[in-house]
Amino acid sequence: MLQQTQVKTVLPRYLAWFDRFPDIEALAAAPLDEVLKVWEGLGYYRRARFIHQAAQKIVSEFGGTFPQAFDAIMSLSGIGRSTAGAIASFSFGQSTPVLDGNVKRVLKRWHASPEATERQLWDWAQKAIDGSGGNPADWNQVMMELGATICASRSADCKRCPVNQHCTSAFQTVEPNTIKKAPVKEVHWRIELHTSPNQGIWLTQRPDSGIWASLWTPPITELASPPDEDPCHIHLLTHRKLHLYGNTTDNVPAGHGQWFSNLDSIALPTGIKHLLEKHGVHT
Ligand code: SF4
Repeated sequence: MLQQTQVKTVLPRYLAWFDRFPDIEALAAAPLDEVLKVWEGLGYYRRARFIHQAAQKIVSEFGGTFPQAFDAIMSLSGIGRSTAGAIASFSFGQSTPVLDGNVKRVLKRWHASPEATERQLWDWAQKAIDGSGGNPADWNQVMMELGATICASRSADCKRCPVNQHCTSAFQTVEPNTIKKAPVKEVHWRIELHTSPNQGIWLTQRPDSGIWASLWTPPITELASPPDEDPCHIHLLTHRKLHLYGNTTDNVPAGHGQWFSNLDSIALPTGIKHLLEKHGVHT
């Protein structure tokens, strides 16, 4: 939940999540719509789907107990090598490194090798944790903290660094963060708002991949170019700027979908909720 989301936003949601899904069985048995509803507003809904899929796999293949074998942890949806390393070291004391962006930077500077490959970095990370002689969880925490606080992306505070006597790049000019952000793509979507006093609003469920996967929205048509009107709402995603143009209509809706007079049990994207509110449809 904390990936890309602030702690103060996450705290009440974290508690609500465990109120509703107190254990892996409860999460695995819940319908996806309900999982997405509890996640609603946190964004990056893929994470909620992955957690749900992982819970189902833990129940069906691991008897409801979180697996300890590294390969089994890696086999769960949404868990890559670095996350698996964190889980295995923090939860089970295994000597498995974390290699997030901060740790990569520390290792590159430590070895004075800004062009180091992923393979090389994993090799160094594994050797370092194996040779640390301490608690693997502490080692991973220290490496992440060192990169987040002292060996930071913009500058390295070598004077305060507790390992400056051993680092190859200590007190040298270090490379600043050179990762370029992907450009944000402008997208223009026509949102058809079919409403009926008796039946509510017509919604369709998004495909299970792509933007807002598995969430419910009114029918959306992508426009080839911006229309001659201002958008009702602009919603920012990591690599997309969505311009939403709401269009109320009495036409009979076509295609897949269903009427909803109550939106309490389904998850809608935040951008769509804003758009509906602007059109007087209360969610
Ligand atoms: S000595 Fe400087 S470059 Fe090396 S790890 Fe510490 S802060 Fe980073």
